[in-house]
Amino acid sequence: MSDAPIIFSGIQPTGRKHLGNYIGAIRQYVEGQDRGDPAIFCIVDLHAISVAYDPEELRERVYDTTAILLAAGLDPERCVLFRQSDVREHTELTWLLSAVTAHGDLNRMHQFKDKSAKQQELVSAALFFYPVLMASDVLAYRATEVPVGDDQRQHVELMREIARRFNERFGETLVVPDHRIPEVGARIMDLQEPERKMSTTGGTEAGTVYVLEEEKAIRKKFGSAVTDSGREIVRSPDKPGITNLIDIFAAARGVDHGVVEGEFEGAGYGDFKKAVAEGVVELLAPVRERYAELRPDQAALDETLAAGAAKARAIAAPVVADVRDRMGF
Ligand code: ATP
Ligand code: MG
Repeated sequence: MSDAPIIFSGIQPTGRKHLGNYIGAIRQYVEGQDRGDPAIFCIVDLHAISVAYDPEELRERVYDTTAILLAAGLDPERCVLFRQSDVREHTELTWLLSAVTAHGDLNRMHQFKDKSAKQQELVSAALFFYPVLMASDVLAYRATEVPVGDDQRQHVELMREIARRFNERFGETLVVPDHRIPEVGARIMDLQEPERKMSTTGGTEAGTVYVLEEEKAIRKKFGSAVTDSGREIVRSPDKPGITNLIDIFAAARGVDHGVVEGEFEGAGYGDFKKAVAEGVVELLAPVRERYAELRPDQAALDETLAAGAAKARAIAAPVVADVRDRMGF
């Protein structure tokens, strides 16, 4: 057996993917595909139905998200890239693992509390069960490493607990995975409400920078980003707006935040915001260009996803068979 990690991560095809997803997750995927053996990336359309959605739009967004991931640098030859709903093992394992998931643990999940408060019509049981499906996504591959943004820390803790409880109850079967949260950019905040994370479904339009956004719009959004009183460009708990801009710039440039603080000592907020905007424009431009080439060829995207699903199924099926066997089926 090789020492290489088995990497798994999922991304929702809801809405348009944003800078937080890019910096917190997608960039790590690209880095992970050469370290992981295998590195598995899943477009989690089954997760997307946990809040209000439109079926036709969901289908389209899966292609959008696939094209974004390819444009960002995922190479289907070097990783496993697939659509969650193509691999039935995820849903079957969700039910099986619900037997070793504590209801009280699900009740404590921040994401459920935050998202359920925002639902207009229905708080679905799917929203409550989301972390069990997420645990199944990862545990079905005996993944050792889960690259995610900081907001998913609690869900990864829970899947570790589920794996441990399963192994205790039914014998050593599942692997307890570790999370991998980036040091810079694990929590990109909304530019208008820097106390809240930038989010696909919950943020402000003006405060969310999309991966595919036009350069003019990116500049405008950074230009109107909320800053703080005072004039210093330093990270600090009472300066959430500036702190976020420093983190974004540091992540875009691939440097530590101290370097950014040093570079802009004495500069004004206006100039700093312009510099951050340019950094992000440069970061995203190549992705947007590649996307425009890839997205129109839906047949090719379908082929990529189908090939990925076949590879994924080959890994997950024997694991779920083991779980069934241990559980008495
Ligand atoms: P939603 O708000 O509807 O849950 P999302 O924006 O969180 O959507 P997801 O597809 O759920 O998007 O998340 C994909 C990945 O992006 C996850 O690993 C998540 O941790 C990461 N991520 C999401 N938002 C941020 C953010 N603001 N900063 C850094 N990483 C993020
Ligand atoms: Mg999310």
